Amino acid sequence: MKDHYELVILGGGPAGLSAGLYAARARLDHVLIEKGAPGGQVLLTDWVDNYPGFPEGLTGFDLVEKMTQHAKRFDLNIELACVTKVDPNNGRQKILHLEGGGQVSCDTLIICNGASANTLNIPGEMEMRGKGVSYCGTCDAPFYRNMHVAVIGGGNTAIQEAEYLTKFASKVTVIHRREELRATKIIQEIAFANEKIEFIWNSRVTSIEGEKEVERLNLLNNDGTTSTLDVQGVFILIGVTPNNDGLPLEQLEADKWGFIPIDGESQTAIPGIMAAGDICSKDVRQIVNAAGEGAVAVLAAERFLQDSKKS
Ligand SMILES: Cc1cc2nc3c(=O)[nH]c(=O)nc-3n(C[C@H](O)[C@H](O)[C@H](O)COP(=O)(O)OP(=O)(O)OC[C@H]3O[C@@H](n4cnc5c(N)ncnc54)[C@H](O)[C@@H]3O)c2cc1C
Repeated sequence: MKDHYELVILGGGPAGLSAGLYAARARLDHVLIEKGAPGGQVLLTDWVDNYPGFPEGLTGFDLVEKMTQHAKRFDLNIELACVTKVDPNNGRQKILHLEGGGQVSCDTLIICNGASANTLNIPGEMEMRGKGVSYCGTCDAPFYRNMHVAVIGGGNTAIQEAEYLTKFASKVTVIHRREELRATKIIQEIAFANEKIEFIWNSRVTSIEGEKEVERLNLLNNDGTTSTLDVQGVFILIGVTPNNDGLPLEQLEADKWGFIPIDGESQTAIPGIMAAGDICSKDVRQIVNAAGEGAVAVLAAERFLQDSKKS
C-alpha cells in the first residue's frame, strides 16, 4: 500500500465494490481497504433473488465474486487491512490508522463499513442461518410462501416486516419479550388489524430446532412457563449495529444509533468524506441501494478533487 491516495474506499461490501468499480473506471488514484474477504454481509446471504440483472437469482458468494471480478477488470486496487481510526485532520488530508501500526492518507474518503444484524446468540441460530433463520424480511419473504413464520422483535422494522411477510406466509407470529410493542402507533394499528398476524407477548426464544431446516422454536415466558411453536421460518429483527469503530462520529454528525447521515450525493458532514451503504442513516438497507450510493459517492469524490485543484 502507498502512503497516500486521491481516494480511499473503506470496506469491500456491495457499496465499496461498486465505488471501486466507478473509481477504477474513472482512473482515480485509489485503494479499497477491506479487513476480511470482499463481499461484506452478502457472504452471509444464502441466495439473492432481488439484485437486478440476474433473473435466475444467484448465491451471495457468486454475486460478490462477479462484483469483484467486474471491478478488477478495470484494475480495482484492493488491500487487506483493518482501519482502526479515521482522523479527518480538519478537512486537510484524511489519515487512516491501520491495525498493526501503519497509516495511509487520502484527499477523499468513502466510508462503506456496513452494519451487522443483531443476533440472539441462542442454540440453533447459527446452524440454521439460511435454513429458516433470516435477518431480513424484505430479502427473504418470498421464500416462505404459504408457510408459518415467526418474527422476533417489537420495533418499527420488526412490525413492518411482519406486515410485509403476510403477503407470502400463511401466518406470522410476532414474539416479543415485553407486553407492548415499541413500534409507532400507526404501524401497530395496521399489524393488529391484520388477521394473519398473531402475537406472543412477554416471551423470548431460547432455542431454534429442526432436522435440516427450522421446524420449531422453544419459548420461555416471563412467568417462567415454557412452550413450543412450530414454524418453518424465523425472522430475527432486533436491530442492526453500524460498523463504526474508530470513525469520527461527532464530526460526521452520526445519528443516535451511530449511523452516518448523507445528502443526495453521498456527502457527509465532513467535506471530502462520503459514505455509502448500510453504514448510512436510512430506512432501507439492501444490496441495490448500497451499490447505488457507492457509485454516487465516487462522482462526489471526483467533483471534490476537481474543485480542490481549482482552489
Ligand atoms: C443474512 C442477510 C441476508 C441478506 N439478504 C439480502 C438480500 O437477499 N438482498 C438484499 O438486497 N440485501 C440483503 N441483505 C442486506 C445486504 O447484505 C446489505 O444491505 C449490504 O451488504 C450492505 O452493503 P455495504 O457494502 O453497505 O455493507 P456490508 O455488506 O456490511 O460490507 C461492509 C464491509 O466493510 C468491511 N469493514 C467494516 N469495517 C472495516 C474496517 N474498520 N476496516 C476494513 N474493513 C472494514 C467489512 O468487513 C465488510 O466487508 C442481507 C443481509 C443479511 C445480514
